[in-house]
Amino acid sequence: MELMVNRERLMGRMMEMAQLGALPNGGVKRLAASDEDKLGRDLFVKWCAELGFSVHIDEMGSIFARKEGTRPDLPAVMAGSHLDSQPSGGKYDGVLGVLAALEVVQVIKENNIEHERTIYIVSWTNEEGARFAPAMVASGVFGGAFTLEYGLSRTDAAGLKLGEELKRIGYKGTLPADYGRRMKYLKAKQSENGGFSSYKAYVELHIEQGPILESARETVGVVTGVQGIRWYDIEIVGSETHAGPSPMNMRNDPVRKLGDLIPEIYALAKAAGADARATIGELHAFPGSRNTVPGNVRFTVDLRHPDDKSLESMHNMLTRLCERIGADCNEIWYSPPVRFDFGCVEALAKSCKKRGFPSRKMVSGAGHDAVYVSKVIPTAMIFIPCRDGISHNEAEHAEPDDIVNGATVLLDAVCDLANAEI
Ligand SMILES: [Zn+2]
Repeated sequence: MELMVNRERLMGRMMEMAQLGALPNGGVKRLAASDEDKLGRDLFVKWCAELGFSVHIDEMGSIFARKEGTRPDLPAVMAGSHLDSQPSGGKYDGVLGVLAALEVVQVIKENNIEHERTIYIVSWTNEEGARFAPAMVASGVFGGAFTLEYGLSRTDAAGLKLGEELKRIGYKGTLPADYGRRMKYLKAKQSENGGFSSYKAYVELHIEQGPILESARETVGVVTGVQGIRWYDIEIVGSETHAGPSPMNMRNDPVRKLGDLIPEIYALAKAAGADARATIGELHAFPGSRNTVPGNVRFTVDLRHPDDKSLESMHNMLTRLCERIGADCNEIWYSPPVRFDFGCVEALAKSCKKRGFPSRKMVSGAGHDAVYVSKVIPTAMIFIPCRDGISHNEAEHAEPDDIVNGATVLLDAVCDLANAEI
């Protein structure tokens, strides 16, 4: 008999969690390390403790609930996401991955499924970065992208530090937050823990936050990686002059040049295939007066592609286009593509096949905790559709059927990966 997740219980917990920091239009506001975040954490910890899972808090306030395997010396399996939200966020972003992981481990417990590897349910602190920028700060410390000091010293608009706020709400733990020190700590504790154990795999279930699965009527996305991103500030300089007296052929109008450049930028994305993205999100003409030919134009370009070579060639094309018209192109940020672990991806694909779920392999266009975790632990993600692709919005909605299917894939994958032979 196939294991099943308990729909009523999972949906019931999702809705109970959504009461904490509830907003009038159905959304939630649970900013990282706020009073509402404390309530959400307390409820999650209570649920874990009721099931007999031991709860460990790390220095960044991330929560790790542990169900011990029969071979605690083997590298453990982790599943989770985040409980914090945007200022007017939805009920599903993040919460789904944490509560589905809890449901999965509860099903494993109730059915007395033997698992050699220890399983952790994790909730990462401050994924959203809405109150404390940047986003994904605790998983970033874990994965080595940020130092612990940097993470704890993030400051909100009122001047409050993340570390102090975690202390205030009672979630400043002592478990080392970064992977390197965590490993040393676990090694030192091996006699108490039944042997030294690192981490074997991390799986995160999340709503897609985009329209692809819904429009294809597929219920599960097996996420194979995350797009690489390159950001540019570009400036085209012309000469400012009166809009009336100067004839059209005697102007040096930077907007005119921009008009030629824009279609070429979209064309370079088109040429790089269906996975490529090019976005011109900000445009400013200076001095910004209706009867003055602008002296210069500044705009931003955001290029994305899951394949680094393709992203590189998009970069080269953009640079050449800018050179050709004499625009100054300044790259300000580069985040390389992430490729998730083959074994974890296959565990997810195997479950979709076994269960007969309409699914596809896809890349994530958004950042997630899984990105930083994947730097140190074999990782993969599961997406489910969300209505109209809308997220970071009170209207965010996911269908219970899709939630159950996503949690089922998580269940199969965790059972698989928690097996000693894998
Ligand atoms: Zn999220």
